Amino acid sequence: MTDRETQFQIVCVRWFRELAYRPFARLLYHVPNGGKRTKAEAGIFKAMGVQPGTPDLHLALARCGYHSLYIELKAKGNDLDPEQFTQIELLQAQGHLVRVIWDDLDAFIALVTAYINNAPLDQIVYPQPPGRSAGALLSLARSQRKRRRF
Ligand SMILES: [Mg+2]
Repeated sequence: MTDRETQFQIVCVRWFRELAYRPFARLLYHVPNGGKRTKAEAGIFKAMGVQPGTPDLHLALARCGYHSLYIELKAKGNDLDPEQFTQIELLQAQGHLVRVIWDDLDAFIALVTAYINNAPLDQIVYPQPPGRSAGALLSLARSQRKRRRF
């Protein structure tokens, strides 16, 4: 996970937990399978059951005919690795929805809002505003909340 991905994920979680969906705050959580670790730490995590390729966030809510929603967050320009493809396929085969969001809070908001409201997922628009900083994204989330767009 790159620093940019980390910043993006923090903004997404803050939007969800603090601004948009406080009643469900505990049901969105991070799956700690990434990040830099020593070899010893990595071995312990692996023995504890960490599964490489599992998406970054799990929203443990059943909606839209799925058991739950997994979200993999990526910085712009980063692609999925083979472990992620494999894990995503396995999760989807078991009835979970998995989506990848590339560095775009608007897309995260659109996806989560549609999912929670059982809205048609194929009508989600994924805007791709270029070059927004994490701070700008959080400001955007706050202004959107004030306008009650979501
Ligand atoms: Mg990621």
